[in-house]
Amino acid sequence: MKIVDIRNLVFSFSSAGEPVINDVSMTIQKDEIVGIVGPSGSGKSTLLRLIAGLEMPWQGSIYIAEKPVVTDKLFVQPENRGVGMVFQDYALFPHMTVKENIMFGLSRLPRREREPRIAEMLELVKMDKFSERYPHELSGGQQQRIALARALAPKPNVLLMDEPFSNLDADLKAEIRADLCVILKKANMTCMVVTHDQADVEAICDRRITMGQRQKEDESH
Ligand code: ADP
Ligand code: MG
Repeated sequence: MKIVDIRNLVFSFSSAGEPVINDVSMTIQKDEIVGIVGPSGSGKSTLLRLIAGLEMPWQGSIYIAEKPVVTDKLFVQPENRGVGMVFQDYALFPHMTVKENIMFGLSRLPRREREPRIAEMLELVKMDKFSERYPHELSGGQQQRIALARALAPKPNVLLMDEPFSNLDADLKAEIRADLCVILKKANMTCMVVTHDQADVEAICDRRITMGQRQKEDESH
């Protein structure tokens, strides 16, 4: 099954000059972990924001799990797309505890299922002792785990991660990368990971897509 199907997407922040996203098409199959690479400014973050519904394309369409979320006639709101996103700076709510941060995305879930779901997610990211902490009481790596737990909690069709390791120091990075692999496979998660580090792609991705002048879809390992 195609989890993400992007057709001829065009997007620009202004009407002058070359579009940031210029006729981009790609498909991501179920359970694939795909690395999105390319030089700074090539539109990697913008692509994820378009898929998540945080920007509206000028042209083209996006299907998530074979349902249209953007066409020339349709724009489905971010919360209705079945897409989870982890931002580069984690974007945790500073005034909410870990538990409240994860709870935030679970308004659709019947009330009695929320606590068990939060417990399941905290266990998945090995943070079950930290549910009452605030983000500022956690290390960078711990905050990232919570951002991951929050994104995974509603069980999205696809997880989008924008430079998930860029705020971590080198030692921690290798450890978190290995953990992330285990977590994603355990959760059977289809995932698009933006990174500028080739080592990330080799460590966690099944395939790589290069953003650039002409976006290139290639098979790696
Ligand atoms: P990448 O993530 O690959 O580094 P981005 O998607 O962030 O690239 O940016 C692509 C291009 O769009 C860059 O030229 C950037 O300057 C521009 N851009 C990004 N965000 C905005 C914005 N909010 N307003 C105007 N231009 C933007
Ligand atoms: Mg970026």
